[in-house]
Amino acid sequence: MSNNPLRRLPAVNQILDAGPLAQKGDHPRDQVVALIREELATLRETLRQHPEREVPDAPTLAQRVWVRLESELRPRLRPVINATGIVLHTNLGRAPLAGSAVEAVTQAAHGYLNLELDLETGKRSSRQSPIRAWLTRLTGAESATVVNNNAAATVIVLRALCQGKEVVVSRGQLVEIGGSFRIPEIMAVSGAILREVGTTNITRLSDYEKALTPATGAVMQIHTSNYRIAGFTRMVPLADLIHLGRRHQLPVIDDVGSGALVDFEQFGLKGEPTVKESVRLGADLVLFSGDKLLGGPQAGIIVGRTKWIQKIEKDPLMRAFRLDKLTLSALEATLRLYLDEERALRTIPTLRMLGLTLGELRVRGEALLERIRPFPGLKEVRLASDVAYVGGGSLPDQTMPTMVLEVNATTWSAGELSQRLRTGTPAVMGRVRAGAVVLDLRTVFPDQDPLLVQALQAALAAA
Ligand SMILES: *Cc1c(COP(=O)(O)O)cnc(C)c1O
Repeated sequence: MSNNPLRRLPAVNQILDAGPLAQKGDHPRDQVVALIREELATLRETLRQHPEREVPDAPTLAQRVWVRLESELRPRLRPVINATGIVLHTNLGRAPLAGSAVEAVTQAAHGYLNLELDLETGKRSSRQSPIRAWLTRLTGAESATVVNNNAAATVIVLRALCQGKEVVVSRGQLVEIGGSFRIPEIMAVSGAILREVGTTNITRLSDYEKALTPATGAVMQIHTSNYRIAGFTRMVPLADLIHLGRRHQLPVIDDVGSGALVDFEQFGLKGEPTVKESVRLGADLVLFSGDKLLGGPQAGIIVGRTKWIQKIEKDPLMRAFRLDKLTLSALEATLRLYLDEERALRTIPTLRMLGLTLGELRVRGEALLERIRPFPGLKEVRLASDVAYVGGGSLPDQTMPTMVLEVNATTWSAGELSQRLRTGTPAVMGRVRAGAVVLDLRTVFPDQDPLLVQALQAALAAA
């Protein structure tokens, strides 16, 4: 054998045919070869500096390359079991879709559909028409249109109604919805001029009234979805704002945020405005998200007067903000479920999760305990009662009772166990609290329970 260890390095082809690489998985050959070359280059460098080191054989190198392929070329977007107890988790994609919505997306994705075609006449039609029909039927509004999300809805509504004009908003409602969505900044982008009235805790009708001038374009109410102003506080009821708008012939815009199409008080959650009520009171335009309490895909829904909806649809930005066929299909299927409220509660995952009783969660929790207890690496597992949140910036001060598994490992700290769960397959997202990993069952689909057990078993095991 040569004294030069570099001579003993296996060739690329030998590695390609060795170990797990010999199975020829579905990794593109070019990617595999590139990784082998990288691995060999690193090895050459090491051997140059440390000629005494042992030279690995082809199967060993193939194994190394395979491990890298599996981790580097697997999808970056992966399914996650949501064990956080936060039903609308923005980082986890907010609302999971109902089965019929998933089916609609699949069908639309697979083939062609009458996206902008009237099948009766054979003529071109608007992609908004089908959704408009469902939204007017469900909310009682005259007309409706949909865009990419509620932020886009706000921009396009203000452009259509208030460009270069003032929009009057209470100082108590200048919301920031996470990161870059701040009402004052959105208004600036839209070209409307923000006219703040009142104070953080008190705004009276007279404050609005005094602010109205010929430069006023609209009055806007924004639901304080993700915070509450409590104590000595007063805001003007929507009905009074609408009355004011009527007297001054000004449109009143109501950003209700979550878009509740059912009454959430049935889940013990108070204070969420419903779209229907806002329409009934006579708001000119009502805006809300598709993927919050509505339980559908990401969308910004605008319902209200035909005259304003037509103006919005003529805005050139409509083209930039419009929904694609997949989202429209999912949204239509979700909206159709609401034609029967009982069916909506049964089939829309977010509503179903909010409606789960403690008893149901406890039964599942006890079954899980039995399965988890024997796992090697487990130090302790307990079923405990806890509180869950709606999330997605909805109902921030209200909690729901829930059941959680509190898990401790023998070898791993809670932080390590939680990281192992996140990076496993499927990924599991829980919380760490007081030295334990906390897994909330409310947001775990019952059919994911066996997967959760497997993931936990793998994560608990010693390396
Ligand atoms: C969530 C929210 C928005 C933003 O909606 P997206 O659909 O996330 O763009 C706007 N206004 C209110 C009141 C909200 O709660």
